Amino acid sequence: MRIDIITCLPKLLESPFSHSILERAQKKGLVEVVVHDLRAYATTKSRQIDDYAFGGGAGMVMMIEPIDKCISALQSERKYDDVIYLTPDGATLNQQMANRMSLQKNLIMLCGHYKGVDERVREKFITKEVSIGDYVLSGGELAAAVLSDAIIRLLPGVLSDETSALTDSFQDHMLAPPVYTRPAEYKGLKVPEILTSGHAGKIEEWRYEKAMERTAERRPDLLKN
Ligand code: SAM
Repeated sequence: MRIDIITCLPKLLESPFSHSILERAQKKGLVEVVVHDLRAYATTKSRQIDDYAFGGGAGMVMMIEPIDKCISALQSERKYDDVIYLTPDGATLNQQMANRMSLQKNLIMLCGHYKGVDERVREKFITKEVSIGDYVLSGGELAAAVLSDAIIRLLPGVLSDETSALTDSFQDHMLAPPVYTRPAEYKGLKVPEILTSGHAGKIEEWRYEKAMERTAERRPDLLKN
């Protein structure tokens, strides 16, 4: 898979892709993440990428021309499954969306800033709009990192145990059961006996029951769906 991220603040995306699972996935060649500095596509000497909003009002708007140049250059090199704009008014990201996107080959993610992008960018280039929640961030970079992480960890070979992602919360419309590790007793706090019994079938049953209990208590809406 290849993910191209377009941003006016490329440095903001350095850290999220340079550690742990996302770093290893790139080193193993399972995903290529390419960050593009939008200012490199600006046409003015001052590398301008934003301007005042027509009609007035507070906040700058990201201009269409540099974005057009960047997206068009990428699209001339390969076919993209989706051009995604990270935006608070997009469809709220969930596990099912991440599952579907993990099956795609090439994705572009566009990060907005200021008041967002000129609406004509959305009309002409964007095929999918994704929000990471009902709150407003200063820019789309953290949202692009969140979306990329949710996708990349699902790619075959990325997690050392491939079944691990399947037992995480939301995969079966349920939350994950509680987990424990050594020591089996800490300052009087004991791990449930069943987990140290070695009885695989009973452990599975226990985990299912606990996942159900937790989902019913914390997210009953998932069970209704
Ligand atoms: N004026 C926009 C509005 O009210 O919907 C908010 C613009 S926000 C300050 C700047 C950029 O941050 C957006 O263009 C978008 O790329 C990104 N952003 C902010 N909140 C987001 C969210 N919840 N999900 C995804 N991207 C978000």
